[in-house]
Amino acid sequence: MTKNTSKASGIFQLPTEEEVSREVDSYESLSFWKKSKTKALYTFCAVFLFGLVVSLFLGIIDASDIIISFIIYGFFWFFIWRGSQSFIIITLCAYTFDRVYTMLTYGDVNFISVTVGFFFWIIVVKPLYTTYLVEPRVKAKRKHCAHCGKKLDTKSTFCEHCGTKISK
Ligand SMILES: [Zn+2]
Repeated sequence: MTKNTSKASGIFQLPTEEEVSREVDSYESLSFWKKSKTKALYTFCAVFLFGLVVSLFLGIIDASDIIISFIIYGFFWFFIWRGSQSFIIITLCAYTFDRVYTMLTYGDVNFISVTVGFFFWIIVVKPLYTTYLVEPRVKAKRKHCAHCGKKLDTKSTFCEHCGTKISK
């Protein structure tokens, strides 16, 4: 097959159909760091924390803002972790809005805000978009028998069409 020639697309490029299918097919066996969902969440946390730490050091924001941000984004991250497509979009919009709002409110478009926002978009958008594509396909796949491909009754442990044991 094309296994030897396939390579991951760059961080600036959208995921290829091949990359998405590969992640869907090997979803259960993929190591922690190879899952886009995990990558997106951890990168998001890292970028977010970096922004907070620097802002705190420079006295741009205060501690209460940090706690509120954590509660709001923690909520979003939980749903991204569950594979919710709408929350992936909500989080991207909220983060962008948050950045722009902060810059306008404090009246200064400072270097750190712009840098953090910029890196966020570069690093996080691709894995989030991949998650957006992968998660529903994984869910759809789980509803079908791996052996015969027919629709499964979610409660049964064996496929009613071919008798294959369903791995949960
Ligand atoms: Zn079957």
